[in-house]
Amino acid sequence: MNSCVLVTGGAGYIGSHATLALLQAGHDVVVIDNLCNSSQESLARVSKIAGRTPKFLEGDIRESDFLRHVFSTHRIEAVVHFAGLKAVNDSLRQPLLYYHNNVNGTLQLCEAMSEAAVFRLVFSSSATVYGEGAQVPIREASPTGVPTNPYGRSKLMVEELLRDLAQSDARWRIAILRYFNPVGAHPSGLIGEDPNGIPNNLLPYISQVAIGKLKQLQIFGDDYPTPDGTGVRDYIHVQDLVNGHLKALAVIDRKPGLNVWNLGTGRGYSVLQMIRAFEEASGRSVSWQIAPRRGGDIAECWADPAKASAELGWEAQLGLSEMMADAWRWQSKNPRGYSSVSHGQHLANDADS
Ligand code: NAD
Ligand code: UDP
Repeated sequence: MNSCVLVTGGAGYIGSHATLALLQAGHDVVVIDNLCNSSQESLARVSKIAGRTPKFLEGDIRESDFLRHVFSTHRIEAVVHFAGLKAVNDSLRQPLLYYHNNVNGTLQLCEAMSEAAVFRLVFSSSATVYGEGAQVPIREASPTGVPTNPYGRSKLMVEELLRDLAQSDARWRIAILRYFNPVGAHPSGLIGEDPNGIPNNLLPYISQVAIGKLKQLQIFGDDYPTPDGTGVRDYIHVQDLVNGHLKALAVIDRKPGLNVWNLGTGRGYSVLQMIRAFEEASGRSVSWQIAPRRGGDIAECWADPAKASAELGWEAQLGLSEMMADAWRWQSKNPRGYSSVSHGQHLANDADS
């Protein structure tokens, strides 16, 4: 058995980019995913770019027998854990599903890891765990707040679970990565974000207006205390984000216990700035109108990335123009996302790498 990295949720948006980066860095990769929000086609494309294939096992992180099988049949060195549900609105409608999937799923995963004596874990958290009044730029030491929805609470619960775990047993080496706003796609245009139904997030929404799938962007509020009145966020290119995971994996080798790092650029852009940058990169115009504020939104949020820079030797390299160009390349080459290809066509389940 070759030793390898287990990527949960590796068929999804960020997981597929991370799987590719891990393969390109020379790791063997096992992906587990129940495909509830993704398509195996993403992994076929990853293989095409990398010239190597990750091993794929379809299954659910809540299934302990499945996890036991995964750990007993592969020599897993570390786990990068993306699997989770992420739609804020759905989480308000189906809180139990979100807690079961995100919290119980992680608990099952940690149990299986512990049984298999695998103690290196990188977890996808979110800037949503910071309190509403957090001062920008947000540092890791800022207090965590009371997230406004079950999705955010599930991330905070997992962070607390992982903190307890690290305190209980010195063998654990855990990286909690708090993402700001991941956007963009691999520059090949072969993999990218393929949201189910109408997108909730800004950039996929803008892209779908530009391609003609959606009519008009609603800008949620122009009366925030920001330079142009629209909400300000720290958008980070997914390629930079996944590089942060590779750095974290390397650093937890020599840094036991629980570590928290922000993954953001340290720069905020408003909704109007995002639209202008997208129009410039794509040559398309994006129709928009001002709508009321969206419940639960805050005015501004951006990271202080200094801790990640000092401890991981990581900094975001790509700017707004690359984020927009890559998002548009993905959208224009794949107007229907992965759905024009029949799933499973290119990559057999359980295919050997
Ligand atoms: P995604 O939905 O594209 O990917 C998640 C993957 O996990 C999907 O492929 C899905 O099928 C799989 N999955 C979900 N539940 C599972 C289960 N029980 N068992 C096995 N597989 C399961 O989402 P993403 O944008 O790639 O996000 C990845 C992680 O990063 C998530 O945990 C998300 O909460 C977190 N995150 C994302 C963002 C963002 O803006 N995209 C921001 C902060 C944090
Ligand atoms: N936004 C918007 N219209 C949309 C989607 C988002 O005006 O259709 C705004 C939103 O109010 C916020 C920013 O864009 O100011 C980023 O929103 P997104 O949902 O992408 O990320 P998050 O709210 O998680 O930071």
